Amino acid sequence: MQSNRRQFLASVVSTAAALAAGPSALAATASPAPRVTGKAAARTRPLLLKGGTILTMDPHQPDLPRGDILIHGSTITRIAEHIEAGNAEVIDARGRIAIPGFVDTHRHAWEGQLRRINPNSADLGNYIAGTHQAFAPHYRPRDMYVGNLLTALGAIDAGITTVIDNSHNSRSLRHALSAVDALHDAGIRAVHAPGAPLVGKWDSASWYADLAALQQERFGNSGGLLTLAMMTSVDREQWAVGRRLGIPLVTEFFGQEMSAQLPALHREGLLGPDNIFNHCTDLSEEAWQILKAAGVQVNVCPRSDTHWGLGTGIFGYQAAIDHGIRPGFSVDNESAYSGDMFAEMRAALYLQRSSALARKTASNASAPVDMRALLSAATTDGSAVARLSRQTGSLREGKQADIVLINTNDINLYPSNNALGTVVGAAERSNVETVIIGGRIRKQHGKLLDLDMAALQSATQESQAYLFKAAGFTPDAFATQFQVRG
Ligand SMILES: [Zn+2]
Repeated sequence: MQSNRRQFLASVVSTAAALAAGPSALAATASPAPRVTGKAAARTRPLLLKGGTILTMDPHQPDLPRGDILIHGSTITRIAEHIEAGNAEVIDARGRIAIPGFVDTHRHAWEGQLRRINPNSADLGNYIAGTHQAFAPHYRPRDMYVGNLLTALGAIDAGITTVIDNSHNSRSLRHALSAVDALHDAGIRAVHAPGAPLVGKWDSASWYADLAALQQERFGNSGGLLTLAMMTSVDREQWAVGRRLGIPLVTEFFGQEMSAQLPALHREGLLGPDNIFNHCTDLSEEAWQILKAAGVQVNVCPRSDTHWGLGTGIFGYQAAIDHGIRPGFSVDNESAYSGDMFAEMRAALYLQRSSALARKTASNASAPVDMRALLSAATTDGSAVARLSRQTGSLREGKQADIVLINTNDINLYPSNNALGTVVGAAERSNVETVIIGGRIRKQHGKLLDLDMAALQSATQESQAYLFKAAGFTPDAFATQFQVRG
């Protein structure tokens, strides 16, 4: 009797809370999205990272071969060779390299449960067949939650503290709310950019109103980890809507045909620093000049651009820096490969070196890229692309504490003779020992915190079973090509 009464009271309390939070919160609560992370208690004491090698990646904050980082609340308050803070919780950073958290400037987080479902995918059409055509139309809000949660937690585990979530399966307001809930529950810093699904029926008629409702409901507090953007086509109406809401416009952009649209847009004053363009492969010379003149944010995808051969299949890093643009790096999606920035930096290193060597005797020969430039693309330059440079992307007093510790005592990194070489040329996800986002520890001693892996697995299995059945897809661990029935 007592426990029945308690259960009744609990359900009343949660319903009342949902009602108080507004109608859309109630809609989100009504979608049976299982919450699978716990919430760590807020830390009241300052945090002190002691004795690490500090790669600040910030022109105003010198690197330190050995130093301390002091964090109060969500903020880095001091970086110095030696800091005394009597009441602080201390993390021993000796033998560790402290770097800013990675910024992944373009990720389709909703595809989390489709990891490596189509590894031999040869082109963009085949990628779309294995994601947007087969599964996306069947996604329920809870599948958005599971996909986003898997992606966000996998990212944090690899030291990615910020993602621009290109959510191009935002089929309804409830789908968007569930995606946002997952990012929030994971504790990642994210720019959530809902976008139009490519395939199937969706709430297109209320898209703009839903976006405004989402902004009002979940993005009113500017101090949080989550900000809003809009995933768009090259479309004047969509851009006008996004700009009325004051949010960045994220666009998949590549090829000569899209390049040819830029001069008119530029003349009309419709291109600016609030445009974030993904890929930027195979652009015309004029297009690059316009992107530079208009201050458009550019991110390149060392693996995706090559894997799916977007445009010419040559990633746009060299073209961007040749035009004075510093692009961010992005993973894009995990449907064929891993979700970490170490692999992107390494792919970029060798793709750029290969093309630089091929151009060695030409008049436009380029210098081989160095380790600092690669880490900058994966951190600082990415934060500028996400329009979050004031908050994150480098280690600097006053910025948010988004920090990764790489353990150089691990057998694959020891001894570390060069910090940049160790991080960019050799480190892996397993060397990411500690991850702090907005002052909150999300990974420690090499393990994600607040994660109920069994609950996450069971939510993922439920989502996969439903999606696979709905799509007529039979899992095959050894498949060489993606196939659905009928
Ligand atoms: Zn993409």
